Amino acid sequence: ATPTAVMVATGKGASQGVLIKGGNALENAHKVKAVIFDKTGTLTVGKPAVVNTMVFSNTPLLELCDLAAAAEANSEHPFAKAIVEYTKKLHEQYGIHTNHIVESRDFEVHPGAGVSAKVGDRTVLVGNKRLMLAFQVPVSPEVQAYVSDTEHLARTCVLVAVDGVLCGAFAVSDPLKPEAGRVVSFLNSMSILSIMVTGDNQATATAIANEVGISRVYAETDPVGKADRIKELQMKGLTVAMVGDGINDSPALAAADVGMAIGAGTNIAIEAADVVLMKSNLEDVVTAIDLSKKTLSRIR
Ligand code: ADP
Ligand code: MG
Repeated sequence: ATPTAVMVATGKGASQGVLIKGGNALENAHKVKAVIFDKTGTLTVGKPAVVNTMVFSNTPLLELCDLAAAAEANSEHPFAKAIVEYTKKLHEQYGIHTNHIVESRDFEVHPGAGVSAKVGDRTVLVGNKRLMLAFQVPVSPEVQAYVSDTEHLARTCVLVAVDGVLCGAFAVSDPLKPEAGRVVSFLNSMSILSIMVTGDNQATATAIANEVGISRVYAETDPVGKADRIKELQMKGLTVAMVGDGINDSPALAAADVGMAIGAGTNIAIEAADVVLMKSNLEDVVTAIDLSKKTLSRIR
């Protein structure tokens, strides 16, 4: 496209809340044959809530929540916010009106797995089975059963370990964005394949993919793995778009022919992307592709 055509399309996009950074994305978007969607915060609302809890040791629920919330307090992850929220509500239920989240130290993010931190003299891990495995925390059959039950309900199970012992779990539910299914079937009607990629587990991911009408799912994928899935498709000759919101999506957003960041997402994702969907509405994936189509057909 000519610089003028690019400028016009970029301006038009901007007025619709679709920020296109540079001509490359615009040149590529109309050729897209596959759209890879991140799950959490992209296909889903990204406002998960704790809907169930389970205590495995004799740790009291309040203590479990206080430790988990302390570890998650510095995390930007939506699950972290859900656990902190839940803990504050529990405080209210218990008549604790300070709403105080305990201090933690040595906070570390383990992308696609969870967080770790020191709370007092205790080491707290909050995250998935991969995190527990990485820290050699044993997962008992009882815990495994709760995890499976939770996941088959399209919920994610967040595990909590204290000093190397698994103490409890949160069942977290994150509803789909209302437009998600519509966008997937629309892309399908344009012969564009929709794929889900997520750090979340296979069972939860599949349950959610089924709800939205996506049949291809890459679950339990770390940030590098997300980018690798894109490169695989590109090697098959497909032009690939990636839609994501998190730090964990930034390598994939950079690897894609068209990286699209959710406007409500993290800055790192927005920086790595070619297109920013300012309204955080998935319909604008189609808007971006259409804009590219119109721009390129006009100059031909
Ligand atoms: P997605 O790829 O769907 O956006 P993430 O890569 O952010 O998901 O996270 C993948 C999985 O890692 C989550 O489903 C969760 O099990 C775990 N996880 C990541 N960060 C956290 C956190 N701060 N607290 C608890 N669990 C987490
Ligand atoms: Mg995400």
